[in-house]
Amino acid sequence: AAVGLDVAELGRLAARAVHPARMSGRCAVFAKSDLIHLQQRACPPDEIAAGLCFALARNYLASVCRGQVPQPPVLFQGGVAANEGVLRAFRELLSLPEDALIRPAAYKVMGAIGAALIARDSPLEEPVLLTDLVGRLGQHVSDEEAAVVLDPLQMPPVTDTAPAPTTLGDGVYLGLDVGSVSTKVAVISGDGRLCASAYGPTAGRPIQAVEKALAEVLGKLPRMPKVLGAVTTGSGRHVALHLTRADEAVDEVTAQARYAREYAPEADTIIEIGGQDSKYIRMENGRVTRFAMNRACAAGTGSFLEEQASRLGLDIAKDFASAAFRSGSPASMGNRCTVFMDSDLVHYIQRGRPVEDLCAGLAYAVARNYLEKVVGSRPVGRRVLFQGGVARNRAVQAAFSAILGKEVLVPPHPELSGAIGAALLARDRGAMRQGPVLGLEAPLGKTATRTFECRGCENLCEVQEVTVVASEPRRAWFGSVCGRFERGEENPVPPDDAFAVRERLLLKDRSGSGAPHRGEIAFPM
Ligand code: SF4
Repeated sequence: AAVGLDVAELGRLAARAVHPARMSGRCAVFAKSDLIHLQQRACPPDEIAAGLCFALARNYLASVCRGQVPQPPVLFQGGVAANEGVLRAFRELLSLPEDALIRPAAYKVMGAIGAALIARDSPLEEPVLLTDLVGRLGQHVSDEEAAVVLDPLQMPPVTDTAPAPTTLGDGVYLGLDVGSVSTKVAVISGDGRLCASAYGPTAGRPIQAVEKALAEVLGKLPRMPKVLGAVTTGSGRHVALHLTRADEAVDEVTAQARYAREYAPEADTIIEIGGQDSKYIRMENGRVTRFAMNRACAAGTGSFLEEQASRLGLDIAKDFASAAFRSGSPASMGNRCTVFMDSDLVHYIQRGRPVEDLCAGLAYAVARNYLEKVVGSRPVGRRVLFQGGVARNRAVQAAFSAILGKEVLVPPHPELSGAIGAALLARDRGAMRQGPVLGLEAPLGKTATRTFECRGCENLCEVQEVTVVASEPRRAWFGSVCGRFERGEENPVPPDDAFAVRERLLLKDRSGSGAPHRGEIAFPM
């Protein structure tokens, strides 16, 4: 639906595409972000369709086959077998000839046929009527629904309002947070107050996103400021650092913790949820003592929530939270993967559950998913701060409070927490800056961008290598999920297939190529 095609049409298009686009197969939510980036770059629909089919097939092979290569003949059954594009993807990825990947005529109902065959082999002692079975099933579903009771969400008190913008004074400090989903800029004065900010989508184009955000912030300032310090953060921090000639790039945890320390020095736990990742930070006496990040599961992130809100026909920023607060009986969605939450949602919609209950249930699901997958067994302290774009959603804030049984504070401008934290870190360094910040005080320099696919693991990230052309050219990378290029591992050795390694090791000394050396045996005489 996201590409405006039905499944059959998508399959037909994918089957004839010449160059399938590269897309993430990790999760439906991440795949959708890739899809949006490709559409923004005017990638042809057939290539996008083929990219989706190949991503699905690669994900299946990586997560289900786990290194075991299916040997022909291979049966392809289940509803997805109807898709010509996925059929093609399996054929090409497994290098199977046309007749070695078989789609049985009854591919859609093979599971049901199998179950019927089992039933035939062990028939019931007393036959039951089909209508009785349907009745029992309906009872089971309502019992399951009644088993989980979620309290209605309570509107959290308004803790703080944002301080009024301040004047520029002798100079300002700049923080740039370039994330995979959004790019944020914060300009603060010497007394730490926000002078201006910008927030926009990164859309897979970090250079353009930085340029646009800096221009926007400049338009909001009364005059050209004197920048006394500039720090970058986020997954695109190295690109932003070289691009703007900022002073330093810091990781997201450091920037988030710095903002938390400024806003609530007594906070001991920071929940941070952004567009595509989330973090848990534990603080003691203003210092980070533990942290955990989740970049792999989208179920507890902003992209997921946005996706579900649009499925319900709601604007995530305007209508979602107010609908959730009207619910008297939030629906239980579980806290599993997005795909399963999706089916829970469809199930509730089909049963006519009010949209208010679904919004409240989704807010609970995001909070529970975060607590289970990111926090796990780590401690949640007494003073909890909630930052990142999702913290603007008061329903999710209320869900955290309800589950944790304590107040969860949201600072002003939670969506800018990383950028303001970076600006505060720039101020901590002191007014040592030499030369203009490019993009703000002077135009951005020339850049050259090369895009390549990393084959280091099954994510197959599309990585951008950005070279800032200057007297001393500098390179930075954007788009790698694990950050290996940023760490200087430019030519990573692809991980071995563990099964192939085991096979090689087991058979090594049986190959007959030279007698194995067994050492010397001595006999006392
Ligand atoms: S090794 Fe890292 S950069 Fe390469 S595909 Fe895997 S996650 Fe992406």
